[in-house]
Amino acid sequence: MDMINSIDEMQQRAQLASVSGQKISFVPTMGYLHKGHLSLLEEGRKRGDLLVLSIFVNPTQFGQGEDFEDYPRDLQRDADLAEQAGVDIIFAPTAKAMYPQHYATYVEVEGITENLCGASRPGHFRGVATVVTKLFNIVQPDSAIFGTKDFQQLAVIRRMTADMNMPVTIVGMPIFRERDGLAMSSRNVYLSADQRQQALVLSQSLAVARQLVAAGELSSATIIQSLKTKISAQPDAHIDYIQICHQLSLADQEQVDIDSVLLLAVYVGQTRLIDNGYLVEKT
Ligand code: AMP
Repeated sequence: MDMINSIDEMQQRAQLASVSGQKISFVPTMGYLHKGHLSLLEEGRKRGDLLVLSIFVNPTQFGQGEDFEDYPRDLQRDADLAEQAGVDIIFAPTAKAMYPQHYATYVEVEGITENLCGASRPGHFRGVATVVTKLFNIVQPDSAIFGTKDFQQLAVIRRMTADMNMPVTIVGMPIFRERDGLAMSSRNVYLSADQRQQALVLSQSLAVARQLVAAGELSSATIIQSLKTKISAQPDAHIDYIQICHQLSLADQEQVDIDSVLLLAVYVGQTRLIDNGYLVEKT
């Protein structure tokens, strides 16, 4: 496995792979790898001859007062896990190389970026769309694998690659969870033992919402109200949003149907956690 920091070198390796007929699969991350990331790498390994993992804590997707400085980082641990997962290249550029002085170009996806995390984290998806475009231009993947844990992010990337005719197949993978249901996240390390227990309220809320729907409750307002009551009972939980949206448009829905996704963002202490899931079981 190679560790590449230079953008030029990564681009040359990608071009070399492409002329020799190799398919490149790509998993972009911010590092501090967990089993969710490893499930994406496993899929990437199946889809390409050359598996590239990027590790880059992207400053442009963090707002003021967010956790950019504190975001957990451990490149050596990540490299060990990546090697075991069969990664061929880790691409880990510096922020200075990605955004040099006089950097001035950003990618804006309209519409689906406005609701949910787009509303509570202004500029976040502009940063995501920009860095993913740059990474695609550098790594030149045939396929790129993302998690549905970041449901809106995946929708934004699908929209962007379609709109911009980017020649990349976007693959979405299911949310990888701890045994007790907590969605894996690099940010889970911020949680104290007590907060870790309280954080279960997110996945439990999904289960409760599904039960309500299965029992015939289709009013989004009623479902959301009962989840608000449940979540607010946790002493350290503070709701950012609970919404029921159409899986494609990400517009709010008044009534649950086959396309409904419940999306939650909840602070547990200072840690912002997200989760989501369909409300009607797909047959
Ligand atoms: P991050 O390093 O958190 O930016 O995530 C990098 C990629 O891993 C994104 O496509 C995420 O959606 C995905 N990911 C993060 N957590 C999980 C999880 N628990 N299960 C599956 N994919 C995940």
